[in-house]
Amino acid sequence: MEKIVNVTKNSAEFIHKDNIHEKEHDKNLWNARIKRDKIAATIPEWEELRELASQIKEHTLSNLDHYLEMFEKNATKQGAIVHWASDAQEHNEIVYSILDSRKVTAIIKSKSMLQEECGMTPFLESKGIEVTETDLGERIQQLSGERPAHIVMPAIEKTTEDVAKLFAEKIGTDPNDDDPHSLAEAMRNNARPKFLKAGAGMTGANFAIAETGSFVVCTNEGNADIGASVPPIHIASIGIEKLLPKVEDLGVFIRLLSRSALGTPATQYTSHFTGPRQGSELHIILTDNGRSKRLGEKDFWHSLKCIRCGACMNTCPVYRRSGGLSYESTYSGPIGIILSPTFDLEKYSELPFHSSLCGSCSEVCPVKIDIADQIYKWREVVYAKGYMPKMHSVLFRAAGEVFQHPSLFRIAEHVGSKVLPLVPDFLIYSKLNPWTNKDDREMLTLSKETFRDWYLKNRKEDSHE
Ligand code: SF4
Repeated sequence: MEKIVNVTKNSAEFIHKDNIHEKEHDKNLWNARIKRDKIAATIPEWEELRELASQIKEHTLSNLDHYLEMFEKNATKQGAIVHWASDAQEHNEIVYSILDSRKVTAIIKSKSMLQEECGMTPFLESKGIEVTETDLGERIQQLSGERPAHIVMPAIEKTTEDVAKLFAEKIGTDPNDDDPHSLAEAMRNNARPKFLKAGAGMTGANFAIAETGSFVVCTNEGNADIGASVPPIHIASIGIEKLLPKVEDLGVFIRLLSRSALGTPATQYTSHFTGPRQGSELHIILTDNGRSKRLGEKDFWHSLKCIRCGACMNTCPVYRRSGGLSYESTYSGPIGIILSPTFDLEKYSELPFHSSLCGSCSEVCPVKIDIADQIYKWREVVYAKGYMPKMHSVLFRAAGEVFQHPSLFRIAEHVGSKVLPLVPDFLIYSKLNPWTNKDDREMLTLSKETFRDWYLKNRKEDSHE
């Protein structure tokens, strides 16, 4: 059993790190949310697009076996070699066997959450394969030995000063030069030789089209195209939920993806791959890794509609202040809360409680996943399986009793309003009460009159008019 992730403690560390990181993180992600709202408002049929995208995904997932076989048949016809991986281990072994049989010792890869989910890089490194990330944000995280902190902006937790310091340490740049352009240029010069010597390039896929056997990769840096075009072997890891039936479906998702993610009309590169280019090999690994099981879970199968845009993360008031690394999971933020427990319920049993349940995530999701409802349902599962801390269970049960009985509620309200102002500070701001901490959250001063008293009094006065 792995240790339960203490997301509250991790978040507190992120918040208290200094006076900059949390504020910058919050500001940058909120900017992405504002840009998303503005660009969505320019498309009158935005809500219809969301509904259509949701329906296409639901239809595909309901007929997944059919579309997967169609994809395999058509991709094979185009000259690709299709592999099937039931889990992360099998995925990694397939990749390694392709590389090993062709004597490849160095690869380049573009961002793929699936490969991250499978723990592919550490696996290949343990076999002596050199792995280089080609996406700038991913490369930054790789050099700092951290997982991606966001599914679209992996290094969003870092300031340019952090990156300048990291590059100075790892690739010998000037630590005082924190100009983003010169940092990007330095990394380009450092990484290009690795691109040229790589024996294989790996990508993920944003969408896979059943009727053509092709797949689509969206990036803003064109790095996936280098990985797919320079080395003689291209290996694409594709989660089985990435299927779309037809090319004509693609337009709906391309219109939604980048607008939801970053508030831009489209990604800089939307590259279609159909069969291997001349003189090269194309391998496609269709990977399950728990997706079929999730498809059978009536409360949670909608999470398979996710197109990994990150909009739910950008809008989440808890994620914006906690930082993605606090979740200690491949996926963080609201989508991480609903996906992570499917991989290890006990380890991620605190995550469903790391949400205000404000519902903003469900509102922005381009494929209309009922994220907030699923977070609530995961709380029920965590409770039913006995993973909720004993103290929380007792308190929630007590609160449930009070909320279910109006007379009890009234007594609690009355007693609370009289007793709380008399409780000394050392008891309120003690370790026993994680909700109040003078550094983060102070108790509000209670009003002398409860809302109920005010309402009853004023309603009575109204009725005399
Ligand atoms: S759950 Fe929705 S909003 Fe969040 S990453 Fe997935 S598609 Fe985007």
